[in-house]
Amino acid sequence: MMRSPRITRAAVATLAGLLFATATLSGSATAETPSRSVEIRPSKAALRSAAQLRDQALKSDEALQLLTALTTEVGPRFAGTPGDLAGVEWTRRKLVDLGFTEVRTPEVIVPRWVRGEASAEVLAPYPQSMVTVAIGGSIGTADEGLVAPVVMVKDLAALQALPAGAVKGKIVFFAGRTERTRDGSGYGKAVRSRTEGPSAAAASGAVGIVVRSIGTSTNRIAHTGTLSYNIAAPRIPALAVSNPDADMLERQFASGREVSLRMRVTARDLPQVRSANVIGDLRGTDLAEEIVLVGGHLDTWDLGMGVQDDGAGVAIAIAAARLAAQMTPRPRRTIRVVAFANEEFGLSGAARYPADEGDESVGKHAFAMEADLGDGPVWKIGGRVPPAHWPLIEGIHGVVKGLGVELGDNTSNGGADLGPLRRRGVPVLAPALDATTYFDIHHTVNDTLDQVDPAHLRQSVAVFAVAIYLAAMTDGPVDRLPTDPATR
Ligand SMILES: [Zn+2]
Repeated sequence: MMRSPRITRAAVATLAGLLFATATLSGSATAETPSRSVEIRPSKAALRSAAQLRDQALKSDEALQLLTALTTEVGPRFAGTPGDLAGVEWTRRKLVDLGFTEVRTPEVIVPRWVRGEASAEVLAPYPQSMVTVAIGGSIGTADEGLVAPVVMVKDLAALQALPAGAVKGKIVFFAGRTERTRDGSGYGKAVRSRTEGPSAAAASGAVGIVVRSIGTSTNRIAHTGTLSYNIAAPRIPALAVSNPDADMLERQFASGREVSLRMRVTARDLPQVRSANVIGDLRGTDLAEEIVLVGGHLDTWDLGMGVQDDGAGVAIAIAAARLAAQMTPRPRRTIRVVAFANEEFGLSGAARYPADEGDESVGKHAFAMEADLGDGPVWKIGGRVPPAHWPLIEGIHGVVKGLGVELGDNTSNGGADLGPLRRRGVPVLAPALDATTYFDIHHTVNDTLDQVDPAHLRQSVAVFAVAIYLAAMTDGPVDRLPTDPATR
């Protein structure tokens, strides 16, 4: 999961919402067209079937089996690596074997970054080495590494508040902690030090940065994730140190003496390579031309085994789609699973998907949802749908509230991979996965299968299956969200 782009894009989408009216699935958007949304509410019969589906899903271990197999037979799937391509082929074959139709793997070009080795040592006042990893996308240092005095700041705002020249020729240490939250918002706030920190520090003359891991683990493991170099600033190397090492570094500052570090990274960029989205359909009945999309991202960071982030999401999507498709009466809309390419290192597959589909097909996407926050459980169901369609989400909630699911609101963005679809008007359903412990293992060596709770996974599949089924069963026409002109 990569959070920072959501914030700015959400702001843009909100602005666009003030300027543009909505259009129906078959209609066109103009500023003068008022919304003609009809109320969408599941029928009593559909709700009864959905309750049966929920109970069946709670007994199914298909998602766990899929996740176990993916983790064992493929493992990490960092964009552009052989593991990534193996993951694409594994998922393609699995969808075919499981009865999906129209299974395809449209090409997605992805960046290729090689982590290499990384080290960080305190040279003064008290020499010690630290557990560290390169932040994704970092450039390398010179062979002998980089030695400089260190300036400690809490976050970007604290960096901006320093006097001019304060970090010139120095390494900036971002010491801010990640708050543990159920909705993942603690990560969303902290992550800007990692994504924007390198260029912000470089713009002020810094020569490197070290970030406290953007994670909640107190283990001595470091947390990777992407950075975003701004073309207006020089590129400088960027490392993340484990939380206990960041604590130790803070104590070195408490001595009041100058702190200096040596950091060394051998990371480098290689030419772009091929990856692919993996797409498969379970065809509907009388509304088969309309699509209910459920996705996750197939790529992972390279440190763990790609289990919670986001093998779990791919497994939830496939298992929930299959359970929903097997229900009687059969889903009316086509259920589509998309395993997106390269979410972590640039959202490449999410950007490619609507471009490959074309406007007409995107216009037939009735609803989209995504699982990308670990194995669950789902603690809230919300969405972003035309207001007249909110009763659909209330209907889903009615079926799953006994599983500990709260009713959310109509301001969710869904997952990062849904952004391009949402900005083109596709309504989003958002079952929210509980992220309380997710950032203990996310993007670390500890993203392994033993961290999965099978009961959480079953509950998540049950909620997603109910959401998919009811979204596929309701009468239409399904209306569109306001579109974001910046994406056209
Ligand atoms: Zn993810």
